[in-house]
Amino acid sequence: MSKTMRAAVYENPGVITVKDVPIPEINDSEVLIKIAYTGICGTDWSIYTGKYSADKLPLIAGHEFSGTIVEVGSEVIGLSVGDRVTADINMGCGHCFYCRKGQTLLCSEFRQLGIHMDGAFAEYVKAPWKLIHKIPESMDMLKAAFVEPTSCVIHSLKALNMPIGSSIAILGSGLGSLHAAAAKERGAAPIIVIGRNKDRLEIAKKMGADIVISTEDYPDPVERVRELTGGRGADYVIESVGTPETYEQALDMLRPGGTLAAFGITADDDVMRINPAKLVLSEKKITSSCAGVGEDWTDAITLLSNNRIDPTPLFSKIMPLDKMEEALLLLQKNRNLVKIFITPVEGSETINL
Ligand SMILES: [Zn+2]
Ligand SMILES: [Zn+2]
Repeated sequence: MSKTMRAAVYENPGVITVKDVPIPEINDSEVLIKIAYTGICGTDWSIYTGKYSADKLPLIAGHEFSGTIVEVGSEVIGLSVGDRVTADINMGCGHCFYCRKGQTLLCSEFRQLGIHMDGAFAEYVKAPWKLIHKIPESMDMLKAAFVEPTSCVIHSLKALNMPIGSSIAILGSGLGSLHAAAAKERGAAPIIVIGRNKDRLEIAKKMGADIVISTEDYPDPVERVRELTGGRGADYVIESVGTPETYEQALDMLRPGGTLAAFGITADDDVMRINPAKLVLSEKKITSSCAGVGEDWTDAITLLSNNRIDPTPLFSKIMPLDKMEEALLLLQKNRNLVKIFITPVEGSETINL
């Protein structure tokens, strides 16, 4: 094996260079994975623009990946060269108050592969063996690279703990469509997805939305959601956009006694207005979730590999690693595109899915 690999290195905000870098060296408790696909996520754009992880540059980003194990450390148990895998990207210190409670995401030493340390927009990535998940035969490598976003959606759905037959409104038609698919699996009805782009709303319908609301037709979707839910508002609402305005709408379209899941990430200094008196009198609840971790990954793999959640309507393109920067810019320019996968496999061309 040559000692170098191709990687897309985020050098400075707005600068990505695809170049040869050393292949990561594993320790006794790590595995080396040859990447098949790595999905591009909004976080990768935020790292590119310098909004996120700027102190970690230069960095190889990429945290939604699938691949094949090519090397295992001496302490690794139950994994072999040739295994098709993905990896939970979330790491805590392992021994603090939160880690002991299984709340890794709240650890003060919390780090994510491809966000705070080198990730998978490259030919190879290394990961601790305890975070590796094997991919079942029935699951293709594109879906395997989509386990991470699915685990995030499942984590948020678990926080809602929604009984069968509950109405749900979802703001956002990117990962919002994936929330719709998960809510359908949970027995929610009706599932209402709110977004602007009508092509994306068509995808939301394919993925389980019963009703879609375009903000082009309904600039204030709150009234529309109330109309569709007996005048009350939805039992559950998921905010998956990430602006103060949509967060305020989300709370307004929730029925008294209902629960809001905060999922969309806003800018650091954004502030949401809440009237405390209204909140008290309406007994509305707010849950929040920042990533999928631990068993959320197992659950995501189970639901994807058994076709309970089919994410393929969200898959837009596969592009070669050399076009990393072009792919990021394309996603910003063309809002019809949802998920682009990068492949480092030599000689690959852009494929429209
Ligand atoms: Zn992501
Ligand atoms: Zn910890």
